[in-house]
Amino acid sequence: MKQTADVLIVGSGAAGLTAALNLAETHKVAVIAKGSLSEGATSWAQGGIAAVLEEGDSFEAHVKDTMIAGAGLNDIHVVEHVVEAAPRAIQHLIDLGVPFAQEGNALHLTREGGHSHRRIVHVADATGYAVQQALEGAAAKHPNITLVPDMVAIDLVTGRHAAQFSTSGAVHGLYAYNRKKKRVETLTGKATILATGGAGRAYLYSTAPRGATGDGIAMAWRAGCRVSNMEMMQFHPTCLYNLQVKNFLITEAVRGEGGQLKLPTNGERFMPKFDKRAELAPRDIVARAIDHEIKRLGLDYVHLDISHRDPEFVREHFPNIYEKLLGLGIDITAQPIPVVPAQHYTCGGVVIDLHGCTDAPGLYAAGEVTQSGLHGANRLASNSLLECLVFGEAAAKHITANFGDLPDVPDILAWDESRVTDSDEEVVIAQTWGEIRRFMWNYVGIVRTTKRLERAKHRIDMLRQEVKEYYAHFRVTPDLIELRNLVEVADLIIRSALSRHESRGLHYTLDYPGLLPEAKDTVLVP
Ligand SMILES: Cc1cc2nc3c(=O)[nH]c(=O)nc-3n(C[C@H](O)[C@H](O)[C@H](O)COP(=O)(O)OP(=O)(O)OC[C@H]3O[C@@H](n4cnc5c(N)ncnc54)[C@H](O)[C@@H]3O)c2cc1C
Repeated sequence: MKQTADVLIVGSGAAGLTAALNLAETHKVAVIAKGSLSEGATSWAQGGIAAVLEEGDSFEAHVKDTMIAGAGLNDIHVVEHVVEAAPRAIQHLIDLGVPFAQEGNALHLTREGGHSHRRIVHVADATGYAVQQALEGAAAKHPNITLVPDMVAIDLVTGRHAAQFSTSGAVHGLYAYNRKKKRVETLTGKATILATGGAGRAYLYSTAPRGATGDGIAMAWRAGCRVSNMEMMQFHPTCLYNLQVKNFLITEAVRGEGGQLKLPTNGERFMPKFDKRAELAPRDIVARAIDHEIKRLGLDYVHLDISHRDPEFVREHFPNIYEKLLGLGIDITAQPIPVVPAQHYTCGGVVIDLHGCTDAPGLYAAGEVTQSGLHGANRLASNSLLECLVFGEAAAKHITANFGDLPDVPDILAWDESRVTDSDEEVVIAQTWGEIRRFMWNYVGIVRTTKRLERAKHRIDMLRQEVKEYYAHFRVTPDLIELRNLVEVADLIIRSALSRHESRGLHYTLDYPGLLPEAKDTVLVP
């Protein structure tokens, strides 16, 4: 059987393409993406990338800020490693042509919540798009890199799929659904890197792209890898509530410029009763307060109101939001904006070491799909693209240095469709997807209780069984592949949340409001 490439990379965002570019001088690389190449979260990143570049700033300060945000759950060695690698990672992007904003001869640095210094490099408010374009452009030009859009990974291929059955646990590639040819193909390589992004779409409201269904986490878990800290889901306080547009962020600057949070029922402003900083309290406090009011009153949303400010000021400061919402029939100079908190970032994921190695020989992972030890219980703003760059490169280096020792690819059995037929009840997929996202939102969201988590567990157990049966009977489709992963990942989130008996970072439960003396990762073992 002909090997597809030396190295297979699942995911064409910052992590996957960084790994590809670092491997391509010495190896043939194939990068697959389940839709178009730019569809991941990388293109959507707005703020920027954190690195110590300002005089007076220090690695120690960046490490300290990251540890404070992560509520001490971070691995300090990993944090130090990533923080120290940051300036070089930024230089690589500059070499690739990313047009970071300048101030005189130096990079312009902004400051974000949780950072004690100005240290965010950015390209206006569309940094991720510029990074994605630069990485994609360089990868497309490289003769050793093959970019394959519309290829949906289904499962990792291990010795269990070899003609000569083996339980070594080594990964030799993957089965993937080719959307254009509408068939499952076997892709093989000596090493496979998962760079599939997060799992935000397990929640009803999420700022993450449509494809953030935790595919890499579920695939690694099924292949026998440990998964960690899945209860640590980051929520952004204000996402537009709209049944058509589910992931439009309303920047925190609206609150910064006087926007007030009010109950839609009677117009009452509620933040002052939760925190003396009112609307200017930190993100997690505002998100929890909104969640509290929504649950207490059975609301769908609350209002964010900036209509008391001069209309000209509002239009000038928030031109994009003004235009976007006007198109949806909301004039923000005269009307309040319906908002809900939304899932924003997946801190947990596949356990990796400093080289991006997972538990399975031949399998690596980088980026939002991982739990590297960097973020701990809460991600510090703008540390996530950085993580993609550092671990994408680390995985590539480890593969290059150890290529000769990686297991050879055996003969792999072709995908077996002999016992399945085309589905005659696709409705099951949309229905189950909707159910999961709704109860994850209501029961496993910002404020948790053991009772709600147990309710969610009962439901996910039932749905897992239903999806398992459906998967066993019908041919795979991209929607079914995603649903199967989503159900797996939702289960991992619920189990992780149930097992943490404290409130730390992003995990806040009314049944265990205190902090345990020792910070410990939640590690699930398959
Ligand atoms: C609105 C928004 C704003 C953000 N702003 C910032 C910011 O300012 N700074 C910052 O540091 N971070 C920010 N983040 C987070 C950051 O963008 C992500 O953490 C990061 O881009 C993740 O990159 P990645 O390479 O891990 O995955 P992604 O960029 O999400 O790419 C995932 C890739 O995997 C592919 N894939 C997934 N499943 C499969 C499958 N089954 N088969 C084949 N391919 C698959 C996808 O097609 C895609 O190519 C933001 C996120 C969002 C949503």
